[in-house]
Amino acid sequence: MSSNQNVRSRQGTRGKSGRRPWRAVRQGVGRDFGPNTAARQLRAAALTLVAAGALVQCGAGDKTGSAASCAGCNVLLVSVDTLRADRLGVYGYPRPTSPWLDQFAADAVVFERASSVSYHTAESHMSLFTSVFPSVHGVANASSDKVDVLPPAIGTLAEAFRDAGYRTAGFHGGGNVAAAFGFDRGFEDYQETHTVDRAREWIESAGRDAPWFLFFHTHQVHDPYIPEAETRHLFKTAAELPIPDSPEQLERLLAEEHGEDATPPFTAVRDAFWRRVDPSRSEHVQRVSDLYDSKVRELDAMLESLVEVALRTARPTLVVITSDHGEEFQEHGRFLHDALYEELLHVPLILRHPELSAAPRRVTDRVSLIDLAPTLLELVGAPPLVAAQGRSLAPFLSSGGADGRALLAEKVHVQPSGEHRYAGAQALYLEPFKLIARGSELELYRLDRDASERVNLVSSHDQQLQRMLRVLEAHHAANLVHRESLRGSSAGVETVLPAETLRRLESLGYLE
Ligand SMILES: [Zn+2]
Repeated sequence: MSSNQNVRSRQGTRGKSGRRPWRAVRQGVGRDFGPNTAARQLRAAALTLVAAGALVQCGAGDKTGSAASCAGCNVLLVSVDTLRADRLGVYGYPRPTSPWLDQFAADAVVFERASSVSYHTAESHMSLFTSVFPSVHGVANASSDKVDVLPPAIGTLAEAFRDAGYRTAGFHGGGNVAAAFGFDRGFEDYQETHTVDRAREWIESAGRDAPWFLFFHTHQVHDPYIPEAETRHLFKTAAELPIPDSPEQLERLLAEEHGEDATPPFTAVRDAFWRRVDPSRSEHVQRVSDLYDSKVRELDAMLESLVEVALRTARPTLVVITSDHGEEFQEHGRFLHDALYEELLHVPLILRHPELSAAPRRVTDRVSLIDLAPTLLELVGAPPLVAAQGRSLAPFLSSGGADGRALLAEKVHVQPSGEHRYAGAQALYLEPFKLIARGSELELYRLDRDASERVNLVSSHDQQLQRMLRVLEAHHAANLVHRESLRGSSAGVETVLPAETLRRLESLGYLE
């Protein structure tokens, strides 16, 4: 497979239209939840399973425990696009990719098993901002110049901070987190930028009269992985290969291919990188992975320069560092991010509470990024988002213990304008198992014995499979009910992306 095919494959492998994954194995049990199905039927399915105790998420069964209040604290939320948890020292990586972050985490609460809500940027970030699942908010990565916009009835984290008297700002890397999707809602200032400088300046000029909420997003470790000179050779293990690993080398290749004076298309930089990667050669895969590690090391310095400024402000600052999804390096036959395996869903989640730094914790319970917005709002004493499907993780900051929740991740299947959208692929965690449903394909793994998801237990664990399919069905039904109640007359609102957002999406490889 050529790298180009691989790059394209992530846009061409969405779930099959209209099929519920479990229908293939549960004839007569699965229902048709298509666009014409009555809401009454959905509600009945959801309520039946809630009553049976199968659905334990959506805010039910909250743990007891006092929240570690941080009323009036500033909040810095950092989302590093495409950052795998397992490439950081704090998560056990043996290479020194994250010396600053490891030290920072030593005074923080480290969620060892945090899962993203999706493997695509727009879905994941919108769930981070709203605490509702992608099939409820309906916002998905752009696949054309038209995208769905967040419905007005769904509130956002920035709006909640603003309404609580916070100053709000977002500095982001553009593309699938651009303002056009509705990501700017609640922010005084929501700007695309590719360095930390403007975020640092904003913090320094924010004043001390009101607390602030700052969202910072970066594509620093997104492909193509072209490190700076200082980090380029840090983790180099293979001999000389044709894969470009410096800006100068890339420029030379682009000049050869497009001419010295030509302006290459936005996709050219990625093409020049990936066309030279042969996924069948282990040394190529290793080199790509090494370059990613170099980018993580650069990220570490970037995070330090931002967080250090935030921690110097007069008010105490709560800092959260996380990611929207990971990245694949052929663990399951792919590069980039287009699946629901752990290399994509296991993300870092590190929370530094200004008053709890003397009591750092490592939380081993599995949690979800759907929980982050409720957590932050509870910690600062702001009212919760009314539509939230996650729950506050505040009790984990001072106590622990498993709560047996089922956790969900999903990818929204995008159909042409005006038609119904639904979860085209889903993953369900029910300890210690994980179910992946993509179209009619089902995979079942036991993560405590098979962390790298190699042995599919579908044919040998039918009872467990059926149990998880029932829970998945309940989630699906509950999400559709929730979606219908929230979207109402605003369903199907879409917008045409501005030209600069389209160019950024092309340069990131999301549009051709
Ligand atoms: Zn992303």
